[in-house]
Amino acid sequence: MTPAKTIFKRIIDGEIPAKIVLENERFLAFHDVSPQAPVHVLVIPKHEIVSLADVGPADAAWLGGIMVFIRDVAEHLGLSKGYRVVTNIGSDGGQSVPHLHFHILGQRQLQWPPG
Ligand code: 5GP
Repeated sequence: MTPAKTIFKRIIDGEIPAKIVLENERFLAFHDVSPQAPVHVLVIPKHEIVSLADVGPADAAWLGGIMVFIRDVAEHLGLSKGYRVVTNIGSDGGQSVPHLHFHILGQRQLQWPPG
């Protein structure tokens, strides 16, 4: 049986709407539907991969690329005072969507440690 598409794959495929911030041929940034800060944007690769637990040495180039893309998104959003980048992995990590994503949170003072 073919696994069901994740909600993020459906956004990539244009089946459900999202408020896009930036995109290129490999990566997509869009606003989180349930923001936890005044700015809360998700950055995803357009290819399907569940989480950082699934990467290996062959993924190093695009992983470097997505880090630079995250920097570009933060600059585009004007987060000059700083921001936080988070990726949740698996159930203990609090991951709810099984497609690798990085949260960019900003425009408020964030606390440490997170809950
Ligand atoms: P996770 O908990 O997996 O780290 O983060 C998943 C994030 O996806 C959550 O912050 C959640 O609000 C967001 N999210 C879930 N469904 C949708 C959706 O349909 N559209 C958008 N824009 N964000 C979503």
